[in-house]
Amino acid sequence: MAKNEIVDVLIVGSGASGAAVAWSLAETRMRILCLEQGDWIKPTDFPSNGRDWEARRYTDFDISPNRRARSTDYPINEDNSVMKVANFNGVGGGTVFYTAHWPRLHPSDFRVKSLDGVADDWPINYWTLEPFFDLNDRMMGASGLAGDPGTPPRSPPMPPVPLGRTGTRYAQALNRLGWHWWPSDTTVATTEYEGRAACINLGHCTPGCAQGAKASTDITYWPLAIRAGVELRTRCRVREITTNEHGMASGAIYYDADGQEQFQPAEVVILACNGIGTPRLLLNSASSRFPNGLANSSGLVGRNLMLHPWPQVFGYVEDTMDGGRAPMTALWSKQFYETDLSRGFVRGYMMQFGRGTGPANEAITSAAAGRLPWGRDHHRIYRKLVDHRVQVGIACEDLPEEHNRVTLDPVLTDSHGIPAPRIDYTMSENTRRMMEHGIASGEQFLQAAGATMISTSRTMLNSPGHLLGTARMGTDPERSVVNEWGRSHDVKNLFIVDGSVWVTSGGVNPTSTIQAVALYIADQMKQRLATLFD
Ligand SMILES: Cc1cc2nc3c(=O)[nH]c(=O)nc-3n(C[C@H](O)[C@H](O)[C@H](O)COP(=O)(O)OP(=O)(O)OC[C@H]3O[C@@H](n4cnc5c(N)ncnc54)[C@H](O)[C@@H]3O)c2cc1C
Ligand code: SF4
Repeated sequence: MAKNEIVDVLIVGSGASGAAVAWSLAETRMRILCLEQGDWIKPTDFPSNGRDWEARRYTDFDISPNRRARSTDYPINEDNSVMKVANFNGVGGGTVFYTAHWPRLHPSDFRVKSLDGVADDWPINYWTLEPFFDLNDRMMGASGLAGDPGTPPRSPPMPPVPLGRTGTRYAQALNRLGWHWWPSDTTVATTEYEGRAACINLGHCTPGCAQGAKASTDITYWPLAIRAGVELRTRCRVREITTNEHGMASGAIYYDADGQEQFQPAEVVILACNGIGTPRLLLNSASSRFPNGLANSSGLVGRNLMLHPWPQVFGYVEDTMDGGRAPMTALWSKQFYETDLSRGFVRGYMMQFGRGTGPANEAITSAAAGRLPWGRDHHRIYRKLVDHRVQVGIACEDLPEEHNRVTLDPVLTDSHGIPAPRIDYTMSENTRRMMEHGIASGEQFLQAAGATMISTSRTMLNSPGHLLGTARMGTDPERSVVNEWGRSHDVKNLFIVDGSVWVTSGGVNPTSTIQAVALYIADQMKQRLATLFD
């Protein structure tokens, strides 16, 4: 379509949710355009092609946008947050960088008010989303093993990633403890799948898989959506969503690849910029009609930010393990997932068992922690550490709290002069207790696995990249930003499909559920096509 000709649907953001919704809506044959601030990433660009792959994780492929600081990134003021932000700004969004661990929220996660008297229930439930979970598993290409007694039934289309030496060691330890475990679902192709090659255990899935075995939406949804007629325009950074005299969204003002300001008119606007990018854009879209930001009559845009505190407990065993080879995650345990008040907190956590780390990272972190001495013993001890690491991540549910929030920084801007987001985030007492319980469980597990030198990294330098809750869904316009099918209460032709709409965070990696919600919202839109443009 000609540049800036009116489109039926304008999507902002091409990550996990933007890609899914674009593909789903494509069958309507509407004119659909997606504006994405980043670039396409070529597999040859990924660090795993070169020997310096570990070093590049601290430069142009750093998971922190502040350290990566590409021209396609925007800075985030995190000074007042105990957790830092991880993301990726480009076609595929966070899925380019993610570790591809693929759990779903549990049915109880949608009902925490009813079950535990905290936060709020979602206006939708697990069973509403189930067909979309399954569809998304097929579209992304999930691998796993049916029959997990800790989750509702599911049938991933590919067999699971093999346990390997590390996973087998973990399974034996968990059996000794009598704790639940199951091979993790991942979106790593374990067989050839829809044009993707199978995993060859290169390791280094985060960030980027040069083999194309790890599913990111630039290689799953986008090629199909584009073939079906959707246009994806890269290096287009949206500054604000505009509205007309009826208070309806009328399009977006953006900066194109040459830095020129453009106006893109649209009949319907869908935001898919993630739990930080979306509230930032809504707040930057304030006008005389919407002085507190767009879609913000509730005052909740940017509030209830949830980031998933994720301590890591690790140690070392005598036997040689998989180290940094093979996909990072091996298995999960839901032993402590559901509420048990005797533990001193509500809700719970998943244990995510990972393999080791790369040789340079092992050397740097162990030297810094004093495990690896300089001098005569240096090589001898290093050989006992590298490829001997065993570790578990504790995925803690953080409940929504209004003071945890995204606002606009009064000073900081991106390269186009657009106000940058600032986050304020503290951990609640419930989360802190859950975290300490999880760390104690992690230590118990590592002892059962025969590990020594057990340590814990309590606050991760970066958050796990789970950005949730800042434009929550609900039926009450005073207590939510969008309704139960993603439509803004205030602006009827504005939709939000990314992690912002989450009401609570659960204790699992979110992307499978983010995309299931996006597909569900797209389905609801298709069922109401006739009324969308009123
Ligand atoms: C290092 C890392 C590891 C992770 N591991 C896992 C994992 O193992 N399992 C899991 O489930 N999840 C994982 N995640 C999280 C996962 O990546 C996110 O949950 C998911 O990508 C979020 O989807 P989204 O659609 O909400 O937003 P995103 O995928 O973040 O997409 C948002 C897109 O919007 C674009 N955008 C934002 N603002 C604008 C603007 N103003 N104009 C134009 N474009 C804009 C961005 O450039 C970006 O491409 C990980 C994330 C990271 C960073
Ligand atoms: S381990 Fe497999 S999925 Fe991960 S980067 Fe290597 S080939 Fe890709």
